Amino acid sequence: MVLPLSKVPPEGCDFAFDVAANRLAGAAEALVGHDPIRVTGRAEHEAGGLRVRGRVETRLALECSRCLGLISQPFDSRLDVLYSRRVSDEDEVELSGVDLAVCVLEGDAVNLFELVREQVLLEVPMAPLCSGDCKGLCPRCKANLSAGPCACPEPVDPRLRALKKLL
Ligand SMILES: [Zn+2]
Ligand SMILES: [Zn+2]
Repeated sequence: MVLPLSKVPPEGCDFAFDVAANRLAGAAEALVGHDPIRVTGRAEHEAGGLRVRGRVETRLALECSRCLGLISQPFDSRLDVLYSRRVSDEDEVELSGVDLAVCVLEGDAVNLFELVREQVLLEVPMAPLCSGDCKGLCPRCKANLSAGPCACPEPVDPRLRALKKLL
């Protein structure tokens, strides 16, 4: 989805499109589920460039980083990006503290697909947990410890073992 500036009327325009989840494969293959990514928003001319505000929604299929269980969670993220012809240090100072990203506008079009891809990669949790108190898998028998203790013997500190021998 590429939006040419010439296609945006003076009063701005709304946009809505879906990105197939498999188009993010490679970069986020393990992270993104099979649901399409719904993108809606509005583009307006601003400061000689283009201001893009919008919303990115989908449902993610993630693997718990401790127990490898499947987590299905909604993804709902806001976009607010100013594509500017030139990004000077001054602009950055002026905009710091404001939750607005400034990107360099290359050519006469904005690649919304690339914007969505970056947004998803940035905001998908890197080490997701199925629950805050997930106990993970036993390193020996791989049992899911959240379901209860496994049959493995308690690991004994080798220093204690040496002490027991002495006694
Ligand atoms: Zn888990
Ligand atoms: Zn075990």
